[in-house]
Order: sequence, then C-alpha cells, then structure tokens
Amino acid sequence: MTKCALLIMRDQQKPWKLKVLSCYLEGQKNSMDYSIQHLWAMGTAYGSVVDTHPYGPNIIIQKEDCVGHIQGRMGKHLKILVDQNKGKKLADGKQMTGKGRLTNKLINSFQVFYGMAIRKNKGDAVAMQKNVMAILFHYSSAKEEPQHQYCPEGELSWCKWQTDKVLGTCSYRPLKNPLSPVLIEMLKPVFEKLSSLQLLKGAEKCLTQNQNESLHHVIWSCLPKGEYHSSSEIQLGVALAVGHFNEGMNNYNSKLFDEMNLKLG
Ligand SMILES: [Zn+2]
Repeated sequence: MTKCALLIMRDQQKPWKLKVLSCYLEGQKNSMDYSIQHLWAMGTAYGSVVDTHPYGPNIIIQKEDCVGHIQGRMGKHLKILVDQNKGKKLADGKQMTGKGRLTNKLINSFQVFYGMAIRKNKGDAVAMQKNVMAILFHYSSAKEEPQHQYCPEGELSWCKWQTDKVLGTCSYRPLKNPLSPVLIEMLKPVFEKLSSLQLLKGAEKCLTQNQNESLHHVIWSCLPKGEYHSSSEIQLGVALAVGHFNEGMNNYNSKLFDEMNLKLG
C-alpha cells in the first residue's frame, strides 16, 4: 500500500492558497520520519518543497518524473515537427507525412514503444536510452541495410530480427516503407533529447502521478476547492483525507470512532 505524507504550504502573498503535495515512502515502514528517501513533488512545486527542507537537512529529496507524462512528450515533439514542416518539401523531395512517412499512426507507435523502452528497463537509464534509440533505427531498417544493432537482444525481444538471430528462425519481415535517411535525420534530435540520461534518470523508478491525483481527489472532496477553509479546518480535512486514502473510509473511521469511544447507531 502506498503511504502518503502531506506537506501543506501556505503561499506567502496569498495566505490561504494552499499547495498540497504528496510523497511516497519506500518500503512498508509506517513512520514518515525515517523512511522517506524520495519525495516526488508535483511538477513545478518541487523547488518549493526542497527549499523548505521538510524532513530535515539530512534527507536528500530527489525529483522523480511521471513516466506517463514523459511518454507523452514523444507524441508532442513529433507533432510539433509535423506542424513545422506542413506543406514543405523535404530534402528528398517528399513531404513529412503521407505513406511511408511520419504518419499519426507511426507517431502513436513511437510513443507506445518509447513508454515500453522506459518501463521495461526500470532502474537502468542507460538501457532505457539504448532502447529508445533502437526504435528509430529499427524503423529505418531496409532489407539490404538492417539497423537492429540497438534493438533489445534475446528471444524475448520485440524485434523479430533479434529473436531470429537467437532462435535461428525467419519471422522478421523487412518494413515495406522504412523511414528515409532524410526523415531519420529530422527525427534524431527528438529521440536524442528524449533519450538523454538526465531525463531518463528522473524516470528510472517508473512512477506515475496517478496516485497523487487520486489522493488530491479525496482531499478536494473533504475540502472543496472553491470554498474558504480556516487553517484548522484544512489541517483536519487533509488529515482525514490521507487516512481515508491510505486505509479506506470505513476502516479508518471505525478505528477513529473506536479510539474516541464513539458508537454508531
Ligand atoms: Zn530491430
């Protein structure tokens, strides 16, 4: 179960505007004081969390990126590239999109494979990097000029050329329309940017923000965003929401009522 700790920060200029940040504990320890090694702050809030040293000066807070959001960057960057070259003839005399070119379908595939390259190499940014570049080279492979040197090796590889190599089979079918060298050169900067070790190191744990978002939903249900809440109401509301998120409303409330000697009914 994911345990949550919350840090509530008051914006200096707007005292009641709150930023609620959640963090995740490694392992199953219950106390947040000694087990927090990584705090996954949301988006731009990371800097403000680090500055407050919420867990003391000796706890190093590392930024973790959401793997889903990083994956989405592949599609975003490639679509920008398509927009920038709309109607233009490339160096090979053809347009960027169209049959055998950078179609929406191919962009979606690249995005899916990009996510796989990250998730299948959890904990190893160097392997992630190699697998991301493999996508581009795999798609540029012509029958006469195979480019599978970066594709994952072994019988479990998604690259049939590589599985054939290990198993001695003939399942690989060369692409009918491999990406042309002109397109490859245009796509390379996007792949290089998205396979940089600096970026991938932040996604090594393959975390997602889904849990943060569902926690926030529970908090906002206790403390509706559009309404004014006093400081003590906020502290109480957030504490209840974290309890409900961690243990379920029934479970948590039963324990709470028992503790207070309150009987239902
Ligand atoms: Zn391949």
